[in-house]
Amino acid sequence: MAARGKRLAGLEVANEYDLAVIGGGSGGLACARRAAEYGARVVLVESGRLGGTCVNVGCVPKKVMWNASQIAEALMDAPDYGFRVQLDGHDWLALKNRRDAYIARLNDIYERNLANSKVELVRGYARLTGPRSLETGGRTIHARHIVIATGGRPTVPAVPGSELGITSDDFFELTAQPRRVVIVGSGYVSVELGGVFAALGSAVTIVIRGESVLKHFDSMLGTACMRAMREAGVQFVTNTWPEALEVGANGALELVLAGGRRLPEADCVLWAIGRTPCVEDIGLEAAGVKLNAYGYIETDPYQATNVEGIYAIGDVTGRAQLTPVAIAAGRRLSDRLFGNQPGRRLDYENIPTVIFSHPPIGTVGLTEAAARDYFGDENVKVYTSGFVPMYHSVTSRKVRCEMKLVTTGPEQRVVGVHVIGEGADEMLQGFAVAVRMGATKRDFDDTVAIHPTSAEELVTMR
Ligand SMILES: Cc1cc2nc3c(=O)[nH]c(=O)nc-3n(C[C@H](O)[C@H](O)[C@H](O)COP(=O)(O)OP(=O)(O)OC[C@H]3O[C@@H](n4cnc5c(N)ncnc54)[C@H](O)[C@@H]3O)c2cc1C
Repeated sequence: MAARGKRLAGLEVANEYDLAVIGGGSGGLACARRAAEYGARVVLVESGRLGGTCVNVGCVPKKVMWNASQIAEALMDAPDYGFRVQLDGHDWLALKNRRDAYIARLNDIYERNLANSKVELVRGYARLTGPRSLETGGRTIHARHIVIATGGRPTVPAVPGSELGITSDDFFELTAQPRRVVIVGSGYVSVELGGVFAALGSAVTIVIRGESVLKHFDSMLGTACMRAMREAGVQFVTNTWPEALEVGANGALELVLAGGRRLPEADCVLWAIGRTPCVEDIGLEAAGVKLNAYGYIETDPYQATNVEGIYAIGDVTGRAQLTPVAIAAGRRLSDRLFGNQPGRRLDYENIPTVIFSHPPIGTVGLTEAAARDYFGDENVKVYTSGFVPMYHSVTSRKVRCEMKLVTTGPEQRVVGVHVIGEGADEMLQGFAVAVRMGATKRDFDDTVAIHPTSAEELVTMR
């Protein structure tokens, strides 16, 4: 798109925009396109592949791998359903090639979408040079508003030999399935990738600092997730941390833990200890943009930084690091800046999320502990249910489903819904609407169940 020309020292330069976006991931793309729909002149600078983390090394390829592992589990159950199945292994590389081809198609679609929306795409690395300007590849771009959407990257621990391990980014580069895998970390990336490896046949050990995985979620979920993973053969090493990663005598990797304890040899060690925001070397000092105490860009409820005209969205702000959150924050920001909707902003409460573990987890709202802290024990009533879903009535593999409703007040408003079990991933979206609308336990009870499903338990709990 031709930007409005500006006369500078007698030269016509196309460098004046209403909006410049740094980063073409989930948040940046959504923000740029929405602004352009309102007629704003928009430029987006991306240094890597369009689509960012989610499309290239996150949600999308991860879900393809999860789908593969679901098929592996269905194949395990198939004989119990009367199928005579003969398996001849799994071709990891063939799946990778198909997955990569799908992602390449998505990259192209994103590029076409930008062009269709009349957003100018600049391929390069951008750095702020002031409150209204940035530099990329020797070109200076001036804009009335600048949005930082640079996302994050996997954190690698500062221990000797850490470079021998891989991150979630590298997971998607693996061309063959490692036989013995050690994963360090207790968050969702650890249980998701650990679950994929295990279901596809790798021997998996997960090393965690505390007693349980998923400690930022309701404690029922972490406990049930570990139980299910243990039953599927995953080993957990708890209450410890890595001190070094070494190559053993026969070339395999050896993880050295606190106190010098050594784990058995592994073919692959994956660091899943969290993500670091991409805030270095993007010119924050030049523009005067502040970080918060955790190293993320500080933003107010309207995504504004401390510098007028500069905003930040998505993972780089550290709040609810999820694709739909980055997208929603970006779109609402553009609605506000260019769509004449002054109060428009993302409400960060009651954001539903799914963990593609084995079985999957769906969760929205307050954990039981947070609700008790916030409302007081006497004002919280919790309903739970645990059962083996009907799918497993004829299988030798039994994977339980656990559910929890957290309610508060005399009207028993539902403030938390937590589910682990088959189907939880597709179950939660609708319940998230109910929670957001302030549904009470009575509303749940008055909703007629859908039978026979696991979801019906959520409206029949006593
Ligand atoms: C393994 C994994 C699985 C995940 N699974 C899910 C899931 O199932 N569901 C979900 O909702 N979320 C998931 N996420 C999280 C999700 O991917 C992120 O929340 C989301 O991508 C954040 O979007 P963003 O726009 O903030 O940043 P990103 O998508 O990371 O985009 C940032 C972009 O900025 C570019 N960039 C950085 N610096 C510069 C610069 N200086 N100049 C130009 N370009 C720059 C980068 O190249 C990148 O393309 C997952 C993440 C991981 C790692």
